[in-house]
Amino acid sequence: MLNLLHETPIQKINHPVFDENKIEVFLKRDDLIHPFVSGNKWRKLKYVLADAKNQHKNHLVSFGGAYSNHLLALACAGAMYGFKTSAFVRGEEVRNHILLLCKTWGMQLYFVTRENYKNKYELFNSYFGNDINSYFIDEGGRGELAVKGCAEILNGCTEKFSHTICAVGTGTTLAGLAIAASRQNIIAEGICVLKGAEEMNNDVKLLIPNLDNWHIHHQFYRGGYAKTDEELMQFIKTFASSTGILLDQVYTAKMMMGVIQLVKENYYKPHSKLLLIHTGGLLGLLSQ
Ligand SMILES: *Cc1c(COP(=O)(O)O)cnc(C)c1O
Repeated sequence: MLNLLHETPIQKINHPVFDENKIEVFLKRDDLIHPFVSGNKWRKLKYVLADAKNQHKNHLVSFGGAYSNHLLALACAGAMYGFKTSAFVRGEEVRNHILLLCKTWGMQLYFVTRENYKNKYELFNSYFGNDINSYFIDEGGRGELAVKGCAEILNGCTEKFSHTICAVGTGTTLAGLAIAASRQNIIAEGICVLKGAEEMNNDVKLLIPNLDNWHIHHQFYRGGYAKTDEELMQFIKTFASSTGILLDQVYTAKMMMGVIQLVKENYYKPHSKLLLIHTGGLLGLLSQ
């Protein structure tokens, strides 16, 4: 079985705002784990796939939107590790580069209405309830096993940071990161990319009831989930041309812009040392 990169490089990010405020910023390159099974999606799937194997299931079934980084990762990882894969895709049938790649790895796609998509267990049962080899994976791979995988993000990282920060969609990655951070006595922060998602704090609390070393910033969604604007796209270009590092417009660019804003506002004390997590998702850039 191919083992994916686990301990990824950490790279210093230079920006005049960081220098002016005496803050050091580093980026952990989980985007380099794999081009398609990228970033947090591999960490979220790792123990889910191991659990499916343990249960002798050979067919992974999951859910997502037409541009889902999770489905892309699942299609590729499923093929690598010898599983059949199927996915329920929300909305009417469309073609795009993500779904084309999913199909190339053999993923079977079922387009379902937004209404039917709501009840995932019902969908799973009506299509695959009789197939004992089928294994249910929730949207985005969320769940306890995903948290366990994300709790490994800081493994092997010996340098001492004051904060570690990631983008937040469902909060699963942040929950795992908070576990990792608690082992090193540091604070985990999330930059939420959804609008009006304050109730997400409760989801995270349910996943890690005993921890309070985490916080979610809810003011950096920039119009809402997957919404873009001129300044965001320009930021991605400026960042890429000055560092060589690509950020995606849905998650990681909003995280980076949020952190720059927080540093500007003196949210972090001088001499803080921030470790940002690059959670991948770069194929999303081609959706623009
Ligand atoms: C899915 C995704 C996230 C969000 O992860 P959650 O665990 O749902 O919060 C962040 N960044 C990228 C690039 C993603 O693809």
